[in-house]
Amino acid sequence: MKDLSLHPCFNEGAKHKYARVHLPVAPRCNMQCNYCNRLYDCCNESRPGVTSSILKPLQASYYFKALKQKLDNLSVVGIAGPGDPFANPNETLATIGLIEKEFPDMIFCLSSNGLDLAPYIDRIAKLNVSHVTITINSLNLDTLEKIYSWVRYENKIYRGKEAARLLLERQLHCIKELKGKGIIVKINSVVIPGINDGDMEELAQKVSAMGADTMNCIPMYPTAGSLFENEKEPSREMMKRIRSQISRYIKPMSHCARCRADAAGLLGHDDSDAMDMVRQFSTLVISREASKTKVAVATGDGQRVDLHLGEAAELWIYEKTRNGYRFIEKRKTPEANVCNDKWIALSENALADCQAVLVSGVGKYPTAILQKKGIRVIQMKGLIDTGLDAVYRQQPIIPICKAAPFKCGATCKGDQKGCG
Ligand code: SF4
Ligand code: SF4
Repeated sequence: MKDLSLHPCFNEGAKHKYARVHLPVAPRCNMQCNYCNRLYDCCNESRPGVTSSILKPLQASYYFKALKQKLDNLSVVGIAGPGDPFANPNETLATIGLIEKEFPDMIFCLSSNGLDLAPYIDRIAKLNVSHVTITINSLNLDTLEKIYSWVRYENKIYRGKEAARLLLERQLHCIKELKGKGIIVKINSVVIPGINDGDMEELAQKVSAMGADTMNCIPMYPTAGSLFENEKEPSREMMKRIRSQISRYIKPMSHCARCRADAAGLLGHDDSDAMDMVRQFSTLVISREASKTKVAVATGDGQRVDLHLGEAAELWIYEKTRNGYRFIEKRKTPEANVCNDKWIALSENALADCQAVLVSGVGKYPTAILQKKGIRVIQMKGLIDTGLDAVYRQQPIIPICKAAPFKCGATCKGDQKGCG
């Protein structure tokens, strides 16, 4: 049974005893905050956005296992970048899924800007993610447009007030949805003197009324290479005053260590070997067979393989379990106009952990690309289970048509969608 009180960030009493690890599996971001620069790969700098290396989901799960043996007080697995977990949803969900299967008692924690989080809230709740942090920097659109250069939402770039409005709407919507699932919500706010330091009280009042559990005001770090590199860092007095202001409305958090995206150990006392371990595990070569355990299906109804790969806006993902086949989730396929090559993007993202894709039709070019990446492309018509049997049990594919169940006979010329 999970003990949520062992989260060192949410329970100050646990911070000297229990450790957390951030798994750096999320390199991309869907927006640009003017205080952020993720180009750094510095082992001496301790701030969000910095990591020694990026891990793939399987590498992250092996790293986690090794770290868990070393740190027996490890209670939290977090994903906090170096980009945004939901600009990398497949990697984020795959990593949690792998670890949750073996270590169901771990506390799972995610830290996001909230822009693309909403569609995944059901899924993270099912994966037993209990803590989510959303960074909201103001309720005021004039302030917000000074803080963000752009946001990218559903393949469109927004700037200025339009970006600010969209982001804020998505963020507030997520608080409501997360609380509806019983998830503990923390709001992070990056305090930038002269820009949003006067907005914190109003923000605290609002998020508290919406059910957020705690608020963490973090002093902005003027990161070299960011647009705000010459802005002033807030003074201790300013931070003290702000925390006291917000405490009238919401429980303030004041022991944040501004952790790196690959932080591991006690808050403020990171484990000295962890960074080297992340580097080592990032070079771990994982065999295709080991990393590709799932099957993607082009289906419109979740019963039959009935879509051409090119017409499937999303693919349904399945895996084999001890009790049969399990539907995991739907994954969006990339749109042709945003990627130089849709099929390469598909093989590297939505299909990264899939050994096969079941489709009712597919062209030669995508087939060649996917097969080169080790993904079997199976063209078939019929029930999804039949295709899954073909992949997992090496059984022949017998297409289901009305002839079988209704004994129409071998002369049936139907399109396998029913006689009616
Ligand atoms: Fe950087 Fe996070 Fe802002 Fe993305 S959301 S730009 S990773 S601070
Ligand atoms: Fe979660 Fe943030 Fe703590 Fe990491 S530092 S474990 S993301 S609350």
